[in-house]
Amino acid sequence: MDEKEIQNSDVDKEKKDDEQEYEKICYVCRRPESKAGAMVSMPGGMNLCHDCMQKAFDSVTQGGLDLSKIPGMPYMNLNLNDLGSLNKDLEIPKKQKIKKKSDKEPKKQMERKDIPAPHTVRKKLDEYIIGQDQAKKAISVAVYNHYKRVYLADAAGKEEDAIQIEKSNILMIGPTGSGKTYLVKTLARLLDVPLAIADATSLTEAGYIGDDIESVVSKLLSAADNDVERAERGIIFIDEIDKIAKKKNTSSRDVSGESVQQELLKLLEGSTVEVPVGANQKNAMTPMTTIRTDNILFICGGAFPDLEDIIKERLKEKSSMGFSAELKDKYEKDANILSRVTNEDLRKFGMIPEFLGRLPITVTLESLTKELLVRVLNEPRNAILKQYQKLLELDEVKLVFEDDALEWIAEEAIKKKTGARALRAILESFMLDIMYEIPKDPNIGSVIITRAYLDKNGGPLIQMRG
Ligand code: ADP
Repeated sequence: MDEKEIQNSDVDKEKKDDEQEYEKICYVCRRPESKAGAMVSMPGGMNLCHDCMQKAFDSVTQGGLDLSKIPGMPYMNLNLNDLGSLNKDLEIPKKQKIKKKSDKEPKKQMERKDIPAPHTVRKKLDEYIIGQDQAKKAISVAVYNHYKRVYLADAAGKEEDAIQIEKSNILMIGPTGSGKTYLVKTLARLLDVPLAIADATSLTEAGYIGDDIESVVSKLLSAADNDVERAERGIIFIDEIDKIAKKKNTSSRDVSGESVQQELLKLLEGSTVEVPVGANQKNAMTPMTTIRTDNILFICGGAFPDLEDIIKERLKEKSSMGFSAELKDKYEKDANILSRVTNEDLRKFGMIPEFLGRLPITVTLESLTKELLVRVLNEPRNAILKQYQKLLELDEVKLVFEDDALEWIAEEAIKKKTGARALRAILESFMLDIMYEIPKDPNIGSVIITRAYLDKNGGPLIQMRG
């Protein structure tokens, strides 16, 4: 075989594998095989479902219509053997294909041993996330219960009188850069489930400009490589949920706030949604599939600015009924006041009661102190310092940070008020010079970053080899 033939046979094989692995999709109505039934395959990779085929024949027999006039069937009057050149047009891009559910391997049931115990999850989270002990504990238990519920639902199958355990979606409250997104990302990785992250501010009520609510489910499907079953057990993180609080005292229509909360309700509690595959916009050419959200774990996160004031206000009101002013002072200074949040406070903030009802677990994260920020710099498994040290290791150079240099970085980060998020940028601003200069001189053995260097009162300490 010459090279070209080999290439062609490779392409053919790949096509065959694709056919086995992915569903056929009707060229006209864009429904997959699992919904529209068996397809008639034509040359050129075009498939038609029975319904569309029937419609086409009906139109012909009724009036001898020119098939090309039928909307959505522009290629129908072509000689099918000439379709070779149109192949590219008709082919569905891989990212829009839907994984077949094989009859041979029935739906993979969740097994009891697949559910990691809370202390196991917690231990793994500890390797990556500094502080936030309460949050890590609460999340580990919530996830354990969530997947137990999925397991029970699987095991019960169609049993009518099986006990239904309610969904335990999570509301996560914590200041910017305290690790909300990072916690969820780490969790999804540890559990090996697909994760979709969406921003509540981009979501709008259907019909308005922006992403509609279903787009978050569509994202999850692509994170699961279009495997519907995997997506149905994934995690959806909706960030900036505080931004869709009901606006106070407005008479104008509240497009992005209350109504979006309303629309999210049905997703959170579990429903069946029709989503486009491989695209976030529906259009005539995008195949659609259905996804049940019953077993998807929803985590909604937000910074909820001003919530602290609402909590303090409530606590103070209570204490003014007979208690001393001392208590009031205590609340004023309590750094961890967020952990005392109640549903009543969140309602005051502008979240609607039904919405809060669908997020029964509230987890709060603290803002990171200087000590914690120093630990974030060098303790986690993939800490930023470790990353730089690894890079310089390739030049056989040892990178060392003095303790007070680390504190300097943490102090700068606190000034920026974006939590741990600021750390990387601060570090990068001075590491650039070092990363540029070091490789120039092969005799350099180690570099020590001192506080004086960061304060611009001198250079880093350089030690030569040997
Ligand atoms: P949030 O979502 O709360 O605004 P992120 O999770 O996006 O904050 O945090 C930004 C980055 O800061 C993360 O990618 C992570 O590297 C780091 N980070 C934040 N909090 C922690 C923490 N508690 N432990 C370790 N790293 C953290």
